[in-house]
Amino acid sequence: MQNLWDDAIAREYTTPLALRAWTSRLLGSDRNLVLYGGGNTSYKTADTLYVKGTGSDLAGVLEPHFTALDLAALRALLEDPALDDAGVMRRIEACKRETSAPKPSIETLLHAVIPHPWVEHAHADAILAVANVESCFETCAEVFGELAPVVPYRHSGAALARACKSVYETSATHNTIGLILAFHGVVAFGRDARESYGNLLRLVNLAENWLKNRGAWQLPEDHTAAKAASAEVLRERISAAAGFPLSLYIDRSPLAMAWVRRADLAEVATQGPPTPQHAIYTKRLPLLDDDVEGYTSRYRSSLERELGAEARHVDATPRIALDPGLGVCIFGVNQHYAAITAEIYQHGVAIMTRAAAHGQYRAASLADISFAELEYGGFERDVLLKRAP
Ligand SMILES: [Zn+2]
Repeated sequence: MQNLWDDAIAREYTTPLALRAWTSRLLGSDRNLVLYGGGNTSYKTADTLYVKGTGSDLAGVLEPHFTALDLAALRALLEDPALDDAGVMRRIEACKRETSAPKPSIETLLHAVIPHPWVEHAHADAILAVANVESCFETCAEVFGELAPVVPYRHSGAALARACKSVYETSATHNTIGLILAFHGVVAFGRDARESYGNLLRLVNLAENWLKNRGAWQLPEDHTAAKAASAEVLRERISAAAGFPLSLYIDRSPLAMAWVRRADLAEVATQGPPTPQHAIYTKRLPLLDDDVEGYTSRYRSSLERELGAEARHVDATPRIALDPGLGVCIFGVNQHYAAITAEIYQHGVAIMTRAAAHGQYRAASLADISFAELEYGGFERDVLLKRAP
């Protein structure tokens, strides 16, 4: 992955925040680092944290999209044993320097606990392809060593920030330039804009080169033609089970055809997505046979076991169906979301394929993924509400 830093361009940005916005856009311009609102960046002075707000995409982020917060007040929230995760998240808003500033990212506290002035956070494919295996800790120790210790999976927010702080305090050395977030992504940091951005790319390139050396980088392609059959019947059956019409997008690229024809598909494709947030688009599991009703009933039961009564907020019908003849069939509440889901699943396939080429691919727990579906989903409900007469 190419480092896009350019001294001549950097000189045009005369304030730290302008530089912060520029290198954030450099990160956001690469879909292998950041997808659909994922990832966030920050810059801090002695007393203020400037972090990307929610609702803006890193690819187009500008100075007004960053929110200034009282750094000491943020850090104090995490030190208060009386505050649970939800309580901490509610109190962040009160740390804003200006009430009209954008809502700070859910990952604000992660940025606050890192003692370095510049911090980058991305969900880089190559990092996940290294880390998302049964032997996550051993593999990451081999690839990244003290450059980037591993933080076990925690929900974004206070729990993740506390875990990052703890791992940083116990494992970071003077050589440490980042943290690997298991089943989530990567954090990198530095003394200035160039170093911090460069450190993120250094970790991603370490991952990429390690995968290449293991023969785990090249993705298989299958150029045998797909069946001429239509997936329309499947679309109608899933729509009927969901209770609202779903749009269909079919991926029959050579990469997709190689994926659906893997001999071990039933094992690799059913571990869960590379990061729990993907499940709001792709669901935790794909449909591997024609049994839409069976899938939906099993998925519903599983959500109810994990989420109790809250499970009613999450649709239980499949969004991805894998068929060795048809290809990858993607379903979305409309064409727009079907296309987004297709792109997210393509990145997922690359990560799962590469991880399975050097270890046993693994995802976060059923409980963590179910929680993410409830906590970060909801966009489909919004679309359906707007559609209602
Ligand atoms: Zn994240």
